[in-house]
Amino acid sequence: MKWEDNVRKVVPYVAGEQPRKAKMIKLNTNECPYPPAPGVAELVAKLDCGDLRLYPDSHTTPLVNILSEYYGVKPEQIFVGVGSDDVISMAFMTFFNGDRPILFPDVTYSFYEVWAELYRIPYKTCALDEDWHLRPEDYRQPNGGIIFPNPNAPTGVLESLETVEKIIQANRDVVVIVDEAYIDFGGVSALPLLEKYDNLLVVQTFSKSRAMAGLRIGFCIGSEKMIRYLNDVKFSFNSYTMNYPSQVLGVEAVRDDAYFKGITGRIVNTRERVKGRLRELGFTFPDSRANFIFARHKTVPGEQIFQALRENNIYVRHWNKPRISEYLRITIGTDEEMDTLLSFLENYLAAS
Ligand code: PMP
Repeated sequence: MKWEDNVRKVVPYVAGEQPRKAKMIKLNTNECPYPPAPGVAELVAKLDCGDLRLYPDSHTTPLVNILSEYYGVKPEQIFVGVGSDDVISMAFMTFFNGDRPILFPDVTYSFYEVWAELYRIPYKTCALDEDWHLRPEDYRQPNGGIIFPNPNAPTGVLESLETVEKIIQANRDVVVIVDEAYIDFGGVSALPLLEKYDNLLVVQTFSKSRAMAGLRIGFCIGSEKMIRYLNDVKFSFNSYTMNYPSQVLGVEAVRDDAYFKGITGRIVNTRERVKGRLRELGFTFPDSRANFIFARHKTVPGEQIFQALRENNIYVRHWNKPRISEYLRITIGTDEEMDTLLSFLENYLAAS
């Protein structure tokens, strides 16, 4: 027997690269191209270092309270974590403890598979249809829980509320998690369904639409009972997951709703404009309702375009995986960044 026999062996999730170059255009991890709300910068300047002496509020009370006002739910229905990754990971540990496999799409956020492996949760993937949509009938088989993003990543495809409800309705005996990381870019949230279904958990994040990926703030909303169970697990793991600056700066971001609507609206406008130009350049893509476009070119291989962009300091995301190896996931940046990308592509494709 070796000590290594007792190691929990896992294949970790691979996040998009985070190069810090002065002149790069970073369109590879779906961050927001605009800064957080101005009130956040003002508060950063005023933060008292002395406050860092103390442990933070383990219940993240002010953040929970403002989210409860904003979304019109009880504070007891909200759970906050260190990015939605932390929230979803806790939810896997809390809710997916059956013998039956949990279900998620074959093309989706690749962290789901990693958490399932980490926690030894059996899982099964369900193939998206030709148009990258979920097939609700696939989610009628016996299972131990369900998770899918809406809009999906990396496709950007939005499912209707009817499809989401169909899946929840057919699975009242397990927890259904709807990962709404990209819902603020024109999607329709499943939050209103919480009134009807106590097995639904809706997860959202400050990383994309609230321009705060660097602070790591995520949250979920569900029935009071579900949130109690989640808190039991969280407090058995680490009471102080969310640091003090993130808590207070997060509150400030939610306060400025006009700014939030402004930047998400701008990103949506840019996205729609970029769709038109990409089409003219010979790209095809499912219609995205997220802050990225998942596109392939009619003739030039995805890997080749990815490398060419990278060599020119334009970073997008590419996966060598079944079904998606020809595709590039392009985050929507500022108009200026997107214009640089588009003119590079125009020249590059003309020469290919
Ligand atoms: N869900 C999906 C579908 C995502 O694409 C991401 C971003 N990688 C996350 C969750 C996690 O985001 P964060 O932890 O920054 O909230």
